[in-house]
Amino acid sequence: MVRIFGGIRGQDRAVALLVRYLESGNVPPGLLFFGEEGIGKEKAALAFVSALFCRHRGPAGGCGMCHDCRLLSSGSHPNFLPVSPENQHILIDGIRRLQAELSLKAFSDRPRAVVIAPADRMTVQAANALLKTLEEPPPGTHLLLVAHQISRLPPTIVSRCQKVSFSPLSAREVEEILAGIPGVGDRHSPEDLRGAAACSGGSPGRALEVLEEAEGEREKWVSLLSSPDPAAIIAAAASWRGTGDISRKVAPPLSIVRDLALLSSGAEMGIINEDLKNALRAVAGQKTTEGWSRALRALLSMSRMPPQAQKQLMVEAFLFEFHGKG
Ligand SMILES: [Zn+2]
Repeated sequence: MVRIFGGIRGQDRAVALLVRYLESGNVPPGLLFFGEEGIGKEKAALAFVSALFCRHRGPAGGCGMCHDCRLLSSGSHPNFLPVSPENQHILIDGIRRLQAELSLKAFSDRPRAVVIAPADRMTVQAANALLKTLEEPPPGTHLLLVAHQISRLPPTIVSRCQKVSFSPLSAREVEEILAGIPGVGDRHSPEDLRGAAACSGGSPGRALEVLEEAEGEREKWVSLLSSPDPAAIIAAAASWRGTGDISRKVAPPLSIVRDLALLSSGAEMGIINEDLKNALRAVAGQKTTEGWSRALRALLSMSRMPPQAQKQLMVEAFLFEFHGKG
């Protein structure tokens, strides 16, 4: 049965509890999934709903083939009622709309599921309105609340739910998850994945954000190196002010300049930023191989600077000097 939640890694305790509910046929009407952002709570809630709805639930959970499974995965199951924030918050109107829907007869005698995510974005009024439904849910209706910060929910809501706790993952687990995501694991170097996992606080979701940010950085550096735009240089340098871990910040330009040095010498093998190859090829010819090597050495020495160094000035000086020399 554990395979239903095959996509949920590192949450064995939560998964075991959910499986117990399913196997006993005794699913509480109010469930609260809580823990750090980006560690699989919402994914687990959806996997739970699919196991709950499926007509042929087997040891692997939802079959994925039956009418209910197909409706759910296409997002059009009439018994599935998701509630999400409109402009940051879940408002009382959203909860009232939900209650109006719940007051109608269910689509069939099948279970109904409400997923409120993130539930800690409910306003006080919305939470108070929801309380009534949590106290007396219509028969066969399950309310799944997903919250990143349980302390932001009124205690009256928390006390009416069975709690399913999710914990941060180890850096190793996060790294393995990243490596297994198509379009992530195959596009980033193992070093990038390890670095993102290390500063993710155990959250694969946050690790993905770190990777994305690094990605934007690489593209920004291609354009910073391709043409001297003083305003862009000053803005880029400003983002280095207060940087704690300088080696992480230097990593994107370092990999770009390394590739440019290779390309300018005519080498094609061993390019790190394969995905940017065309853009890099266009920039590589703007300097001699010696010019790129000089830039590479400057960045390497930057990466060894002590934490208290004036990074903003350092980057500004690097870029202005880079564009000043051939
Ligand atoms: Zn099914």
